[in-house]
Amino acid sequence: MNLTTMKRLLAGIVVFTAVQTAVGQDLIAKQAPIDRKLQAADSVAMVLMLEVEDEIDNLYKSWDNSSTHCYSRADVPDSLEIDLRGFSMPTTSRKVTSGFGYRPRFRRMHKGIDVKVQTGDTIYAAFDGKVRIVRYERRGYGKYVVLRHENGLETIYAHLSKYLCDVNEDVKAGQPIGLGGNTGRSFGSHLHFETRVMGEAINPAFLFDFANQDVTGDTYMFRKQKADTYFTGPGTKNNVASAGKRYYKVRKGDSLSRISSRTGTSVAQLCKINRITKKTTLRPGQLLRF
Ligand SMILES: [Zn+2]
Repeated sequence: MNLTTMKRLLAGIVVFTAVQTAVGQDLIAKQAPIDRKLQAADSVAMVLMLEVEDEIDNLYKSWDNSSTHCYSRADVPDSLEIDLRGFSMPTTSRKVTSGFGYRPRFRRMHKGIDVKVQTGDTIYAAFDGKVRIVRYERRGYGKYVVLRHENGLETIYAHLSKYLCDVNEDVKAGQPIGLGGNTGRSFGSHLHFETRVMGEAINPAFLFDFANQDVTGDTYMFRKQKADTYFTGPGTKNNVASAGKRYYKVRKGDSLSRISSRTGTSVAQLCKINRITKKTTLRPGQLLRF
């Protein structure tokens, strides 16, 4: 337990004790036990809340400006509730051109989502945060920016034509951090956008709905995958979930009802667990949980 945690816990206990004293003095005997119980529950909830905040403070132990992927998988938390309120869409573009997931053509994972932008389009910080990396990588991300946010996420914005922020700078959600471009390993101007927890990539579509320019909910529950494997659909030998989660990779021409019959999961259930609606446009290559 670090000093901050201890201070916050102590603050919680002090409040808790003060509340108990006040309750004892001010209320008539008959009501007191119930009220005290309620107050006690509130205080416990508060202490728990403070502990959750501290988890995020403690999640990233270091501040590394030199290495983008500097985390050990062993340090990835088993789960983390990510607060999505206070977001800003990284781009006003609604057009996702390539989803997250395994790309058989390149035999590698695409650990982000590609959104169509024109060179020179403004790219915005997704949440309040601090700039960890501003760098050029000729064969990969091109000009890119990595931000760390208080909600536990790190976001990456790649293939930029211009940087509009400096390393170690504090940024606000919606603040321009760069201009869209076509630098690095990119064919046609677009934004490659990644969302990660301690380096563990999350499908950005689970958090951001670009088509509707919105987040998928107030919070997103991140759960660490047991293995770095994804499932392409029923009938393949990989179609057994090692982490208790199964993914279906959307194919060209797929509809929700077709995916429903292929996966044996109802349309309503598919919508619910993927935080989409029946109207959401499905993109080939997109991963859906079932
Ligand atoms: Zn990409």
